[in-house]
Amino acid sequence: MTYAFRPHVPELTMASGPCSIYPQVLSAMGTRMVHHRTDDFVALMRSVSDDLSMLFRTVGRVLPVEGESILGLEMAAYNLVEPGDVCINLASGYYGAGYAKVLRGYGGTVVDVAVPYDTSVSIEQVRAALDAHPEAKVLAFVHSETPSASENPMEEICRECHSRGVLTIVDSVSGVGGSDVRFDEWGVDVCVTGPQKCLGSTPGMSLVAVSDRAWERACRVIAETGRYDRSYLCLLPWRSWVECDYVPYTPPISSIYGLKAALDIVADEGLDNVIARHETAARATRAGIRAMGLDLWVDDESHMANSVTAVRVPDGIDDTMLRGLMDERYGLHISGGLGEEAGKLIRIGHMGYTASRQKVLTALSVLGSALMELGYPVDMTGGLQAASAA
Ligand SMILES: *Cc1c(COP(=O)(O)O)cnc(C)c1O
Repeated sequence: MTYAFRPHVPELTMASGPCSIYPQVLSAMGTRMVHHRTDDFVALMRSVSDDLSMLFRTVGRVLPVEGESILGLEMAAYNLVEPGDVCINLASGYYGAGYAKVLRGYGGTVVDVAVPYDTSVSIEQVRAALDAHPEAKVLAFVHSETPSASENPMEEICRECHSRGVLTIVDSVSGVGGSDVRFDEWGVDVCVTGPQKCLGSTPGMSLVAVSDRAWERACRVIAETGRYDRSYLCLLPWRSWVECDYVPYTPPISSIYGLKAALDIVADEGLDNVIARHETAARATRAGIRAMGLDLWVDDESHMANSVTAVRVPDGIDDTMLRGLMDERYGLHISGGLGEEAGKLIRIGHMGYTASRQKVLTALSVLGSALMELGYPVDMTGGLQAASAA
């Protein structure tokens, strides 16, 4: 028997990422294939590279690695961590806490700085950890903790680490393009993002920015540990890309077409305007949620992410039933909580294509309608008015 793949496709996906993508990206991905060693494709890659440098605000070259962003994050540890290295890991959420295992996997001695998953790590906590462990080589953290919708103060953390010679590994998978990231100015060492969050393209790539200090350290770590230097996780084969436009592996050509279309949107709209659009979408979502009479998950406005909003599941409501109703009746797919937070929160992604006035108002009205249908009263008019006003 043949298997017919007929997925249920909601009209709109405003999950914690991936979300619905820009129509321009969708059509670009259907472009006819070219071989990756042709002049045309090399020229395309060069222009993607310029756009990526603009996106991370770096003069260096960003690596367009095939493989979901988790791969880029593991690459960072493969290349920067030697057995015995003290690594400070900020565990402010699901991804941050999980990264400790990756660091340990490469021999790191991990010092966790843990906070509850409804807040972010303060710069004072980071300073205290750095003071207590002057021998630390690496500090890893998540910029925007998508699973709980919190955001860590990336600029302050990176500047502090840079001044102390501690290398930073930053998971900004749902940050870059939605929040300000200044790779060179803040002295970041490795920063990873993906095309499927704030850029509004599809999953399947890691976009990895690497500082000069991180390149130097990678060369030393690979030599000293004897780690396999042609591993797909090893940074060294990517020198040919940095130095002479030569991608060491076959790039995911259709994904590159989509990524380029997404980067064109950023270039046309202007990076600052795109970030402002994410900020506005987040502010409007939060205002709407509060005015409807619902509670936000994260403890303080200053700790909240720009790309996603987490809402406490109201008492007496089953989150699976709520999300199911939103999807089946109203065609809107959103996310629930992960791990410990499962059942406690729902998440609305406003990133890339979905960081828009129309999408935010849609999400609020669908959420409100579904809650009322389940017998939970909300102030729908107040919610939509507050969101519009924001
Ligand atoms: C989405 C996400 C990831 C994982 O990205 P993949 O491309 O799915 O591997 C990692 N960290 C954060 C903070 C994310 O939001």
